[in-house]
Amino acid sequence: MKPSSVYIETYGCQMNKLDSENVTAILASGGYTVVGDLHEADVILLNTCAVRDNAEQRIHGRIGELSSLRRGKPELLFGIIGCMAQRLGEQLIPRFNRGIIRIVAGPDSYRRLPDMIRLASSDYVVDTELSNEETYRGIEPVRHDDHSAWIDVMRGCDNYCSYCVVPYTRGRERSIPLGEIIAELERLKEHGYREVTLLGQNVNSYRDGDVDFAELLDCAADTGIGWIRFLTSHPKDIDSKIFDVMARRANVCNHLHLPLQSGSDRILNTMNRRYTVDQYRAIVEQARTLVHGINISTDIIFGFPGENDEDFRATINFMEDIRFDFTFMYRYSEREGTKASLLPGKVPGEVRIERLKQAIELQNTIMRGKNKEHIGSTLVVLVKGPSKDSTGWYGFTETNIPVVFIADDSSVGKGSFVSVRIENTTGATLIGKAV
Ligand code: SAM
Ligand code: SF4
Repeated sequence: MKPSSVYIETYGCQMNKLDSENVTAILASGGYTVVGDLHEADVILLNTCAVRDNAEQRIHGRIGELSSLRRGKPELLFGIIGCMAQRLGEQLIPRFNRGIIRIVAGPDSYRRLPDMIRLASSDYVVDTELSNEETYRGIEPVRHDDHSAWIDVMRGCDNYCSYCVVPYTRGRERSIPLGEIIAELERLKEHGYREVTLLGQNVNSYRDGDVDFAELLDCAADTGIGWIRFLTSHPKDIDSKIFDVMARRANVCNHLHLPLQSGSDRILNTMNRRYTVDQYRAIVEQARTLVHGINISTDIIFGFPGENDEDFRATINFMEDIRFDFTFMYRYSEREGTKASLLPGKVPGEVRIERLKQAIELQNTIMRGKNKEHIGSTLVVLVKGPSKDSTGWYGFTETNIPVVFIADDSSVGKGSFVSVRIENTTGATLIGKAV
């Protein structure tokens, strides 16, 4: 029997989530039904991440779990798509028991997936061709949410931070023409979308002729979409034009995600980040001066090769000094093929864990202190859905702080903007009541 239904499971960043929405659209136009229950599927695709080793280990574990489904359905096909597929390509086929993986497709090969699935019933199919042009133009993603949407403004990355696989798994930078982005935003607004996040590995590299990211952001604000967010900014490329737009345009959210990676200049240099700690500090000061109430979040890696106690202290001191609103913190994970994997001075695993633990404790204290400052204020929240215990609602503020609240008003629902009086905090989450 020919496979006709596909189940997609997505791991990793927002870009992967958006890619799965594109894959859903591509498969639907190729004659497949994308199902929400894996027991109904003839094909199971895992859209994977390769940024850290534990993301790949998770996929190994998951394939092990899912392989039992073949007992009742021997014709069931499995595929690995996304960054892990791109990184490992054909090597993935023999890695799993009984050659269970039949499809391997990298992030630029999704248009060919319908054909690949057809072929996979009789043979293994691997397609990891990277493209300098593919941006999935002309594909209307099947969105998982009817109020918040992601849109790609660029794909790929040319930065080659020494620890990172992304330039190898997602290929060269390419921007999507301004006109197409704006047309997409207008369509989303017409369909009642309240929030759009503009995505790129380094949005500050966006270019369409003379148009840079700040101008794109300004034009995006003209469409009148309720809230516009963007991810991710690179400190080496960001400039004050973006802060001017954020300050001027009420619908551009006052949240900046600005990965720091390390608070030591020596480590930043071997990471190939191309900025210094002082330059980073100056950007934060400028952002906080120009954009009233801006929240700044970051990414930091602990235990990068050569990171000694002094470098680690420098990162901790910098965190204390800047007081980030939120920090994603990672243990350094060695990635084959990257420059950092060849560097001397590997930091023992237990030291990486201990440094990460100390940093998490510090960030939690900072965040609790900052979130306490919101108690007594009234903040606008975009509702994402019912709270976990179903007694109220949860959503996010413009500055991206999670909020759980109760509301008497029956008009409150997913996708509504609600004013919430903040009464408490758990540390990371604000607790309140709709007013
Ligand atoms: N382009 C974005 C940027 O420049 O920050 C994000 C890309 S990456 C998928 C997200 C984060 O993963 C990075 O900011 C970095 O902190 C972390 N990361 C990347 N490679 C890593 C590695 N080998 N080990 C640990 N963390 C890593
Ligand atoms: Fe990776 Fe650096 Fe590119 Fe971000 S900017 S995706 S960390 S290489």
